[in-house]
Amino acid sequence: MNIGTIGHVDHGKTTLTAAITKCLAEKGGAQFTDYNMIDKAPEERARGITINAAHVEYETETRHYGHIDCPGHADYIKNMITGAAQMDGAIIVVSATDGQMPQTREHLLLARQVGVKKLVVFINKVDQISDPEMLELVDMEMRDLLGTYNFDGENTPIIMGSALAALEGRDPEIGSKKIVELVQACDDWLDLPLRDLEKPFLLPVEDVFSISGRGTVATGRVERGVASKGTEVEVLGLGESFKTTLTGIEMFHKELDRAEAGDNMGALLRGVKREQVKRGQVIIAPGSMKAVKVFKAQIYVLTKDEGGRYTPFTSGYKPQLFLRTADVSVELKFDDPAKMAMPGDNVELECNLHSSVALEVGSRFTLREGHKTIATGVVVETKE
Ligand code: GDP
Ligand code: MG
Repeated sequence: MNIGTIGHVDHGKTTLTAAITKCLAEKGGAQFTDYNMIDKAPEERARGITINAAHVEYETETRHYGHIDCPGHADYIKNMITGAAQMDGAIIVVSATDGQMPQTREHLLLARQVGVKKLVVFINKVDQISDPEMLELVDMEMRDLLGTYNFDGENTPIIMGSALAALEGRDPEIGSKKIVELVQACDDWLDLPLRDLEKPFLLPVEDVFSISGRGTVATGRVERGVASKGTEVEVLGLGESFKTTLTGIEMFHKELDRAEAGDNMGALLRGVKREQVKRGQVIIAPGSMKAVKVFKAQIYVLTKDEGGRYTPFTSGYKPQLFLRTADVSVELKFDDPAKMAMPGDNVELECNLHSSVALEVGSRFTLREGHKTIATGVVVETKE
């Protein structure tokens, strides 16, 4: 599964990442990656956006983890919104010397919004604290804060230690032992994500053909799930919603009985006219998704260096929204009509689609104007 270190700048995310690789390397579950290697993470581009992110990997007895650590606050924002490296769970690092800070809260909110269900807390820098009541206070405040953002504040594991001590190989009571406890807490508390094959079937429609004597065929790449010939499916989106039978599955001009996540398939649909199916719709396990016209989203507005706009936009702005294969116009609305979104901003707003699109909380999209990607976003709440 994929996890990451999140939290306020300088609270010790990178030190902790290095310390985890060090402690697990001693058990043969990782390759030690030192602080400097992690902190000079290569630049990557996702959906036009520049993000600095380090990826390390490690293994416990039961799991394989991909772990992401970003150097700057903006990199976390961009990464979480674009999903450049999806996080199925996260370790929120908070320094015992400062307690929760603005970025602690912002990362918690974003984690909640992008669909992270569970977190583990690491209260770091306990080597700097001599008063145990101080630690208790940070613990209590973190449990409160988790609850505020709809995480399970009561049961979330909180580990207190010193990432630096672990990394430097001293004071094992607050160093390496606590790292082992932390990783154990991740194993025990964070849930493994469903594999794509276990999710309900979803085929975004890319193209539609009519084959004489056979009927209508929709093509695309199966995003998740499995479909068998003869099962009932639902065609959804762009104002349509109807059920039909999947009478045939074609792959590379061969007839098959089954298609699964990752396959490019042609779906032969019983009794459906060509005009009823369009690029931008989805073919799904019946009832597994809803088509939505109004939703709330968190978006990151690209800077001009990232190919985005030079100027801010205001409520009422109407770019094109691209989500899977759908391409529809959207009107953006801020809660406060006087608000502006500047290039580089991270903002929450309401999206009003011209035509309904199948989407759900966590769905990611881009906004374009002409040939420019101007923003990328994630659905945080659906309205209708
Ligand atoms: P990040 O911005 O959250 O990635 O924080 P870093 O990992 O870069 O750490 C910020 C500073 O805190 C660095 O100077 C670290 O050496 C220091 N630091 C990290 N963990 C500890 C710790 O457990 N104890 C102490 N005293 N300092 C720490
Ligand atoms: Mg860092």
